[in-house]
Amino acid sequence: MNLDLALLNGSVIDGTGSAPVRADIGVIGGRIAVVGDLSSASATQTLDVAELMVAPGFVDTHTHSDLAAFLAPDHDDIRLANVRQGVTTEVSGNCGFSPFPVNPAAADAVTQYLTGIFGPPARVFATLDEMERAVLEVGLVNNLAPLVGHNTLRAAVVGSDDRHATEAELKEMADLLDKALASGAVGMSTGLAYTPGNYAPPDEVTHLASVVASHGRVYATHMRNETDEVLEAIEEALSVASGTGVRLHLSHLKAGGERNWGRMPAMLGMLDDARGRGIDVTADLYPYPAGSTLLHTLLPTWINAGGIDALLGRLKDKESRRLVARQVHEGIPGWQNFVGAIGWENVVVAGAPSHPSYEGQSIAALAAAAGASDIDFVSELLIAERATVMVIIRAMSEDDVGCALSWDHAMVGSDGVPVPGKPHPRIAGSFARVLGSHRGDEGALVEVIRKMTSLPADRFGLVDRGRIEEGAIADIVVFDAHQVTDRSTYDKPLLAPAGIKHVLVAGLGMILDGEATDATPGRVLHMA
Ligand SMILES: [Zn+2]
Repeated sequence: MNLDLALLNGSVIDGTGSAPVRADIGVIGGRIAVVGDLSSASATQTLDVAELMVAPGFVDTHTHSDLAAFLAPDHDDIRLANVRQGVTTEVSGNCGFSPFPVNPAAADAVTQYLTGIFGPPARVFATLDEMERAVLEVGLVNNLAPLVGHNTLRAAVVGSDDRHATEAELKEMADLLDKALASGAVGMSTGLAYTPGNYAPPDEVTHLASVVASHGRVYATHMRNETDEVLEAIEEALSVASGTGVRLHLSHLKAGGERNWGRMPAMLGMLDDARGRGIDVTADLYPYPAGSTLLHTLLPTWINAGGIDALLGRLKDKESRRLVARQVHEGIPGWQNFVGAIGWENVVVAGAPSHPSYEGQSIAALAAAAGASDIDFVSELLIAERATVMVIIRAMSEDDVGCALSWDHAMVGSDGVPVPGKPHPRIAGSFARVLGSHRGDEGALVEVIRKMTSLPADRFGLVDRGRIEEGAIADIVVFDAHQVTDRSTYDKPLLAPAGIKHVLVAGLGMILDGEATDATPGRVLHMA
């Protein structure tokens, strides 16, 4: 037998939670042909992986990498950040943001809307197939498994106004979603804390989730509230699932704001209860006590109505600023008010294209240095940057993060946002950080690898991935269990992790001996 590639003498973790076994792995035509003894086989390429762990490539259940392939060549550090930590498949289109399906008539408005999360340059596509062709033309480093974003559907069909969809609009959104799922999208995401998703009543979400359910796909939700009313938000998500039978996945599970720390056990208790009642619910999270989002999304929802130009117009008005300041201070019933829960001192600029010197500093510190009020400073910055300001929000407790990660049905989702500046270090560190925190405990390591491989692959219907077994696609990561750890920090967010030796996508080396190759073996994964 002649193999394309042989990995010899590794300690193989198959991804199912089983203990490691000493074995060789042979690859032919991008698939695993042999797991066993290759002492009598020949191979075109051989990697000696003695003393190293061999695991299925990691599945990142939560990214915003939809358009990362289009980043300029000098941003390879961002484009490769996730693959350098062993991620071979990224579920994209999260938090309601996807670059498809957008009819040509709405393309300009939706492109502008998506620029904050994807760009510049953001772009949109009428169909998943169109996006796939464009992405493959420039080359993908790892696989994308795209979700359809509800914010995108709503921005394309209803616009950015604060109102309910008409019956005709609801039908149009459902039709676009149905076609995208039929063409292979892995599910639908919502971002109910963002404009315009936040204007959708539960009925609208339930209606669209029933379309997702009819395809047997996943409904992933960034819930309406992750602070004081997080339990109510979980209740809303669960009722969508119980009303439709959809497979529910809660994105970046968290309890934000010090006054909500310690609520994670109660949140997981609700989810366990729901599972006991037959609701199919899972979750993901990134292993950091800080999150990241777009600065303008932290402001009250009314100020974001009507799109970016409307927002910037209101921010110029002194009365509007005064009202925002008061509402951040006092809250509004039903609004999650992250800043009220954590304070501007815990909101740190991560990306402000024309003000790079602000990156790494808190809004409170920057405003004080400028002699301005917090709201005046935020307003002027958003106007100057046309609202493309990413921030890091220090909002969660390490105990809650650890508690969530220990849940049987929790997966790792980096929530990486591949835009220049100082992005959240989760984009380059999430997976290595989890591995590093379980170094020296083989049982724990095997279990977290299950949560990074077979569990998410099964969850999102990624056939023949997430396991080391004969016949599976050869998405493989090889790492040193004694050295593996994250190195990315808030100051140096793109530093590659330590201990990740080789990363193969369909048998092709993306990372070999810790160095990136220029291979582009990634594919857009379609559900059958
Ligand atoms: Zn989100």
